[in-house]
Amino acid sequence: MLFFEIIGQDEIKQRLIQTVKKGRIPHAQLFCGISGVGKLPLALAYAQYICCTDRQSDDSCGKCPSCVKFAKLIHPDLHFVFPIVKNEAKKLTVCNDFLPEFRQQVLENPYLTEDEWITSIAEGKQGQIYTNEGDEIIRKLSFKAYESEYKVMIIWQPEKMHESCANRVLKIIEEPSEKTVFILVSNQPEEIIATIQSRLQRINIPPIADSCLYERLSERGVVGDDADFFVRSAQGSWSALRGLLEAHETQQEYFRLFVIMMRLAWTVDVKEIRDLIETLASFGREGQKSFLEEAQRQLRENFILRLGHWQLNFLTKEQEAFAQNFSKVINEANIIPIMEEMQLAAAQIEQNANAKIVFFDMILVLNRLLKTKK
Ligand SMILES: [Zn+2]
Repeated sequence: MLFFEIIGQDEIKQRLIQTVKKGRIPHAQLFCGISGVGKLPLALAYAQYICCTDRQSDDSCGKCPSCVKFAKLIHPDLHFVFPIVKNEAKKLTVCNDFLPEFRQQVLENPYLTEDEWITSIAEGKQGQIYTNEGDEIIRKLSFKAYESEYKVMIIWQPEKMHESCANRVLKIIEEPSEKTVFILVSNQPEEIIATIQSRLQRINIPPIADSCLYERLSERGVVGDDADFFVRSAQGSWSALRGLLEAHETQQEYFRLFVIMMRLAWTVDVKEIRDLIETLASFGREGQKSFLEEAQRQLRENFILRLGHWQLNFLTKEQEAFAQNFSKVINEANIIPIMEEMQLAAAQIEQNANAKIVFFDMILVLNRLLKTKK
């Protein structure tokens, strides 16, 4: 990771670069701040800069053998500790067992959140850095640096360390060995044991400046009111912003399909219904249920419009334009049966019914219901 690739945080970048230039690299540091501000990317770029053999004035060279290995996160002097969920049956018990997957995810998304990581390896579980990781840490640091002058150990989410593991880390930090750099990266530094905290040089990583977030959004074509909304809601966290963007894109797609579905429920064009159903079938069960939820929300909003309560509705401008006409067919006689029909479809999907049949039947029933007059 190059400093150049990190969103904003110019002051922090300069501060880190200066420690290397002045030969004053603190041997144990704590990067803390809310999730999504770039703590892990900064730790990675810093480690790469420390090990780069052709450092430039404000970034790593990106070309030397060390940088080439850092670009794949496979440098032998770069060590990672991070929360995992043990799987004894598959003999997955230490961080190294998860390392290929961890590397791949961080490379794809350096702003990876702990939730995203843990969900990807064991959905619904809690991640931990277990007691036995202490042995691993000692083993990894017992070797001399292989290729670089320094060994760098990044401990991501150190607050997840089991107490006995934390105590072993404390011991190592208390008796620093030459040319070993610890970078602890934490969302909740107050949960790290106090004896470790007191030995770390703390760097508070602030929220990302709004101007930098606007810049990234405009590169994706998001500007104006939408950009204002996202930046305001994200509060300086790129992870939060990315989550909002994805949710927004999904919602837009659901709305587009909702409009098609309602049109087809009116016209019953069987060929087009088949195309729509193919698309819906590709969403998988959770996606299909979310789509039906969003469809019901749209219907509710349209009914509210029909009643004339414009001030109560939560629709985007595009959705409102559609609702101008569509709300005329939603009335007291059909709103509840339509919603019930969608809930029934969602329940059938939940029970593993064939989604294509469920949607086809539902659209035929909707045809009758939409044409029901008050
Ligand atoms: Zn380099």
